[in-house]
Amino acid sequence: MFRCILLSLLIIVQQVATAQSYNLVIKGGHVIDARNNIDEVMDIAVSNGKIARVAKNIDASKATQVINAKGMYVTPGLIDAHVHVFYGSDPDRYYSNGPLAVIPDVFTFRTGVTTVVDAGSSGWRNFPLFKKQVIDMSQTRVLAFLNIVGEGMRGGVYEQDTKDMDGKLAGITAKRYHDYIVGIKVAHFIGSEWTPVDEAVKAGNLANTPVMIDFGSSTPPLSIEELFLRHLRPGDIFTHCFGQLRDREAIVDSNTQKVKPFVLEAQKKGIAFDVGYGSISFAFSQAIPAFKNGFYPNSISTDIHANSMNASMKDMLSVMSKLMSIGMSLQAVIQAATWNPAREIKHEELGHLSEGAIADIAILGVRNGKFGFFDYTGYKVEGTQKLECEMTIKGGKIVYDLDGLVTPMVNKQSGWAN
Ligand SMILES: [Zn+2]
Repeated sequence: MFRCILLSLLIIVQQVATAQSYNLVIKGGHVIDARNNIDEVMDIAVSNGKIARVAKNIDASKATQVINAKGMYVTPGLIDAHVHVFYGSDPDRYYSNGPLAVIPDVFTFRTGVTTVVDAGSSGWRNFPLFKKQVIDMSQTRVLAFLNIVGEGMRGGVYEQDTKDMDGKLAGITAKRYHDYIVGIKVAHFIGSEWTPVDEAVKAGNLANTPVMIDFGSSTPPLSIEELFLRHLRPGDIFTHCFGQLRDREAIVDSNTQKVKPFVLEAQKKGIAFDVGYGSISFAFSQAIPAFKNGFYPNSISTDIHANSMNASMKDMLSVMSKLMSIGMSLQAVIQAATWNPAREIKHEELGHLSEGAIADIAILGVRNGKFGFFDYTGYKVEGTQKLECEMTIKGGKIVYDLDGLVTPMVNKQSGWAN
């Protein structure tokens, strides 16, 4: 009798085990997950929009769809922490409801990006319009740094009005839209006052968020030593960190080719250095000596807009490949495009592949050959590797599949794989 019950129990346990199933299993890819220290070939199972399991060998027969990632890299969905996506039709409004901003979904998924952070295109006056027009309309996860100027990046003299830079109202707006606003942005200021920075920090303190600084073009340039050591707090972000322009102070001393000692001190203190590539905000003349000094960016971002994407920048993977061509490792560029930016924007639920985490995943191929990487000054570096996005999964759903890696292509439950 006892044996009979035991046998029945065993059969039930076995049936439950067999019945366990996954929506997706990614087989044989080389997983790079900085937060969990994973850098080896692993399988990943996805169920109900979450990472269900990461293990050496997951039974593919338990999956509705299987993705063959052999020879590819499987990483958390990329986070681009500096973009301009407040697109609109007002020709005089630059990146703030204007035509120079870009539609997120048209460039993100095809480059492995699942989260973007708009860097100050909207301000505390017009964030609700940005939310309605862009955030709510996008499949991409769109977050934002709120501009300290009320209507964000409208361009021209409007962005110089210090009376419109209101730390209190920006802080209140950031708190009200806490799910979307991850920080406060200062940009394009050409004056000699510290008002924009100090009002942004005031807002940041109110909303418990970092500030991101894009130094404009002051003459003479504002001191970055004073910025890092007297105005910013640990956790604040300095974007365009490899810029070399006459009216912005650079981090590498052109005479000695050394990273300025206070820059190293600032990074140690917890200030994050972000690439924010843009049209003219990245120069090899800064990045190469910085790398030689052992100084690397905390986060890689594009500063994508209608101009930069068709210039030397192009897209997130192109910037990552470019940084690999001058000495960053694949593992380092992945970390700087996933876990590091997730921490900078205080969204630590993103940027990793822990079991139970949101299933935002990029599957990347590395092309080997001869590739030319140039900057806006015309300086060109030859590289041997280029990253290419094979597949992007957002919240457990395949949102981009370059080569039809998934079997079966059509999912009977949800229709076409994509
Ligand atoms: Zn920007």
